[in-house]
Amino acid sequence: MTTPKVYKTEAIVLKRMNLGEADRILTLYSPNLGKFRAVAKGVRRPKSKMGGHLELLTHSALMLARGRNLDIITQSQTIDSFLPLRGDLWRTSMAFYAAELVDQFTAERVENRPLYSLLVNTLRWLCDAQDVELTLRYFELKLLTHLGYKPQLHECLGCSISLKPTTNFFSSSGGGVLCPRCREQEPLARPISLNALKVMRLLESGEYAAASRVRLSAELSRELEQLMRHYIRYLLEREVRSVEFLDRLRREG
Ligand SMILES: [Zn+2]
Repeated sequence: MTTPKVYKTEAIVLKRMNLGEADRILTLYSPNLGKFRAVAKGVRRPKSKMGGHLELLTHSALMLARGRNLDIITQSQTIDSFLPLRGDLWRTSMAFYAAELVDQFTAERVENRPLYSLLVNTLRWLCDAQDVELTLRYFELKLLTHLGYKPQLHECLGCSISLKPTTNFFSSSGGGVLCPRCREQEPLARPISLNALKVMRLLESGEYAAASRVRLSAELSRELEQLMRHYIRYLLEREVRSVEFLDRLRREG
């Protein structure tokens, strides 16, 4: 696909890096281009018109010019700065985590509109969610679904029986749940309580409006966090290796 010399897109600012005296390289996530990097020239100068529209996690409408290497942002206008996030360190760190996951799980210039919408919505939800941890778990499960890693939460990965209402076992390498018998073949699988399994099913298949009404005890919230953290870490190690491999192929090709 060839991009025209000048083009428009909207994007979320995932990451930024200073360049030279006054410029910045931004990592952006957009509906049609997926993740891409672009240069914002002069943006660190106090008089820059663009600076305020290109802060981290800002949703902006951009005009870009194709550059030799990276494209150059020529205009920017804030669509949403998610203001309520800014004054709350806890919510802000949750939002950074969401942006970081999108960054780490995606390769450059791969369109994924559902993931883009999920990210924009999650930043909005994090502004006023009652239980931000629940919002984040919802985000993680939907992110994995949009990337093709939706965990199998209904039948046992090993013997395909419908999982019984008891403590089962989550296998990160298998991407789903094992019944107590099949677990013997996979000692690394971690126990998942019946309540955690029910919440994960609801988050995975439901809409946010329904999911956000769930009330989690501190203990259940912790269990879900640990399960998801373990699964995501497992996937990212695999993912990072495959992205590195792709990059190497590209360089050598
Ligand atoms: Zn089984």
